[in-house]
Amino acid sequence: TDVQELLLSRIRDVADYPEPGVMFKDITPLLADPAAFTALTDALAEIVVRTGATKVVGLEARGFILGAPVAVRAGVGFIPVRKAGKLPGATLSQTYDLEYGSAEIEVHAEDLSAADRVLVIDDVLATGGTAEASLQLIRRAGAQVAGLAVLMELGFLAGRARLEPALDGAPLEAL
Ligand code: 5GP
Repeated sequence: TDVQELLLSRIRDVADYPEPGVMFKDITPLLADPAAFTALTDALAEIVVRTGATKVVGLEARGFILGAPVAVRAGVGFIPVRKAGKLPGATLSQTYDLEYGSAEIEVHAEDLSAADRVLVIDDVLATGGTAEASLQLIRRAGAQVAGLAVLMELGFLAGRARLEPALDGAPLEAL
């Protein structure tokens, strides 16, 4: 579609970042273009409405930039999922494996309850490890998963297949 072409045209490929052999998808040109950023916000807000989500979870850090305006546009609350050690209140945390070592993400426990239907938003789905951990956090908090929405999915990393159990039938939308 025209929107997809606009979005794709504003993503910059950066070779060998953050390490040799990786082609990094840089979304900062998209953020700097108000027409593209608005089109992205509108498309993601439409997914909030379509999935019946009552909360948006954004994944640190680019998921914050995309998720916050989407929550405002859709009229639902925004909940940050942060890297460990950044949230001041009582948290639920989830560790997950990286290529080398592990990482940990957290959410404020009081921000999620059984009444919530949550749409997770991030910029890029790569291996799916980050998204998988966030879905596990949401389920452990007792909330429902409305779905996962990303700007871009790197299909060759097979994150979609990895996420199947954690999604448990909820949609994965990649614009
Ligand atoms: P995963 O856990 O799926 O392997 O990695 C996804 C996380 O790493 C996301 O939070 C995403 O922001 C970041 N990420 C991985 N690769 C890229 C990339 O090429 N471009 C951008 N913008 N983010 C990436």
